[in-house]
Amino acid sequence: MEEISAMDNSNDEFRSDAVGGQANSAAVMAEKLKKNMQFMKDKAVYFSEIRQYNGLQRTNFKVEYAVQNAVVQGNLSVIDILENISFHYVGVKDPSFSQEEHTVYLVKAGGEWIVANIETKYDWFDEEYKDTTYKLSSLIEAEKQTIQAQAVNSANVNLAEIEAAAEEESATEAEIIANAAYVRSYNKDNAWKYAYTYTTSTATSNPNSYYNEAVFNDYSGPKAGDCMNFASQSIYAGFAGSNSLDQVKAGAAPQDTVGLEKNQTNAEKTKWFGRPSETYWAWTSCSYFRNYIDYSASDDGTRLYAVKKSISASSDFSEVGTANLIGSIIHVNGTATLGHAVVVNAATGTARNQIYYSAHSPNSKNLNLADKYSGAMVSIRPVFFYDITACTGTYASHTFSETNSKCTRCGYVRTYITPTLLSPVEKNTTVTLTAKTNHTVSSIAMSVTNPKGETKTFTSETNTNSISRTYTPTVASHPDDLYTVTVTAVSGDDVTTTSIWTFRTY
Ligand SMILES: [Zn+2]
Repeated sequence: MEEISAMDNSNDEFRSDAVGGQANSAAVMAEKLKKNMQFMKDKAVYFSEIRQYNGLQRTNFKVEYAVQNAVVQGNLSVIDILENISFHYVGVKDPSFSQEEHTVYLVKAGGEWIVANIETKYDWFDEEYKDTTYKLSSLIEAEKQTIQAQAVNSANVNLAEIEAAAEEESATEAEIIANAAYVRSYNKDNAWKYAYTYTTSTATSNPNSYYNEAVFNDYSGPKAGDCMNFASQSIYAGFAGSNSLDQVKAGAAPQDTVGLEKNQTNAEKTKWFGRPSETYWAWTSCSYFRNYIDYSASDDGTRLYAVKKSISASSDFSEVGTANLIGSIIHVNGTATLGHAVVVNAATGTARNQIYYSAHSPNSKNLNLADKYSGAMVSIRPVFFYDITACTGTYASHTFSETNSKCTRCGYVRTYITPTLLSPVEKNTTVTLTAKTNHTVSSIAMSVTNPKGETKTFTSETNTNSISRTYTPTVASHPDDLYTVTVTAVSGDDVTTTSIWTFRTY
């Protein structure tokens, strides 16, 4: 924020009261101030009570504040503050981290600055209740009843129905595999480990310093967030997408550079395409991504197949299942209905208080879903990235010889490389770097470059479909904590395929 005129419009009324300083607005001003203070207290009570009701306890609680920007104009002062909160949920091994971006408005009264208002970016509670008439005890009671209803629904879940749905899903998946020219299966661990690598996890005055801006755009701004862009990146990593700017710009798989058919509204924008400097809505917007998933099921050519399920406010995630939750995406109510995307990094069950997520906007790592969000949600579980490109003429499927990459008839290239991603590792810990190709190739080479730009090249493998080497990272100091691994496979017919991935140290 550069100056007061750049402030969010929603506070215009408040600002004119404070800055104008007209005698007859003093009473209005005092009333507003009182209401704002009460709202902040109510919000704290609400989340504390709901957290307790969900049986969530936090230890090692630590809060740090970083002032981003401060502007003083007459009797009004506006300060942007970054609140970095780290803690452990009791019984959870990994630490949790939450970062909130607040704008604090202070007014000078009787020679002293007092807090008049706090606005928190991306906050659904503010969006829902601020400047409205509500009764706190009723809000809390209603939410407790909803949580009870979730437990009752979970206990009475129709297992036969869930099994039938699972069977139907398997049948669809079998059909896709049978009809696809090539299929990449979703690696859910790679998806959440990518999310873990690129979510903010230490107190830092630069809120987005963990973002993958070397390859993708950061869409967070005064009015926008980066949540679905980040979820799309995690999905891309889950389908073995290479962490390479050139490959992303070129629209390399797993990206859908076609999207909706040309004659449809906004077709150009509905590609699931991560290319920076241009904005493709299916990649960056929750609602467009959901539309894309719906459309993708009936599309042909390259596409992403995901199972999408609406979860009502009074339901848990029984119909998704614990194992399926990991690495999946959940859309929750943010400042817009179902407008916020989170990536599930852990699940110990299907109840909302057994699900942990990581996200951008606000920056969140290993936070409990029930601790932050409620209401209706949508579960999106990526399953395949595939295409059904047919071979030449009457040949339905391509033909490849053992170590070759290209179809012997049409030249279709099949090779891709799947790494085993790592969640951030403590420096001086020996890790195993592993990558696999989807068929036997002539050679696989691997190298790792540390944050100082020093590269170690490992001995390569021949006539195989995997490479695995041990490595001990010794450098780690954020932001210079990112290691880059490059894997190059050469097929029998001399097609070179390169894949890049990263891991972070602490
Ligand atoms: Zn072919």
